[in-house]
Amino acid sequence: MIFRDDLTEYDRARERMVQSQIEARGIKDPRVLEAMRQVPRHLFVPVDMRGSAYRDSPLPIGEGQTISQPYIVALMTEMLELSGEERVLEIGTGSGYQAAILSLLAREVYTVERLPSLAQRAEEVLRQLGYTNVHIRVGDGTLGWPEHAPYEAIIVTAASPEVPAPLLDQLADGGRLVAPVGPRWNQTLVRVRREGDRFHRERLTAVAFVPLVGKHGWREDDGLLRRVIG
Ligand code: SAH
Repeated sequence: MIFRDDLTEYDRARERMVQSQIEARGIKDPRVLEAMRQVPRHLFVPVDMRGSAYRDSPLPIGEGQTISQPYIVALMTEMLELSGEERVLEIGTGSGYQAAILSLLAREVYTVERLPSLAQRAEEVLRQLGYTNVHIRVGDGTLGWPEHAPYEAIIVTAASPEVPAPLLDQLADGGRLVAPVGPRWNQTLVRVRREGDRFHRERLTAVAFVPLVGKHGWREDDGLLRRVIG
């Protein structure tokens, strides 16, 4: 059957992706590699993009948004140092792919998406695939999701000039936050580790993410993105 042949082809493409894009670039955490092998990325992209799902690049998912490049998903996930017990907060659900990866590596995943249409599509695919420990909410993720805080790990998958302060407040003692931080078109991936009231910051690598639009991020203003002042 064509359907079965397709699945096998996607599975092969996924295995090649893990070997050539992820292992070859130094991702070592065996749990992260296994999750990247398991989650069917092609089911998280629009149907007409499925043939490109395992390419070494981000892809459009509608509404001007993108699903991140597989390597960046693996890298950010590895930086969270998940053991399986954590409550994780993700800001920017997008396609739901990153949330699916996290759901295999942590206890509960709380994810916030600003655009209702994307949240709804992500919710559907996650439900169909049986990722039952992912909880989606529509809203401004720069405010976090205080009801379930604190989180041992927080991942922000859209870029802002600074790490939104509410997210630092909602990070557990000993917790890790990974986020792209910097100007509109190019950012640095940073990891913040909380120790009591101290926040230790490491700079990881150069990245380019779509903007985080909200109270503690960028403001959408007549089609122009301006930094929120004050
Ligand atoms: N993690 C996603 C990729 C996200 S792209 C995946 O695996 O597919 C970034 C997403 O962040 C977009 O869907 C965008 O709508 C969303 N976003 C931007 N600003 C946001 C905000 N303030 N709160 C929540 N989501 C936001």
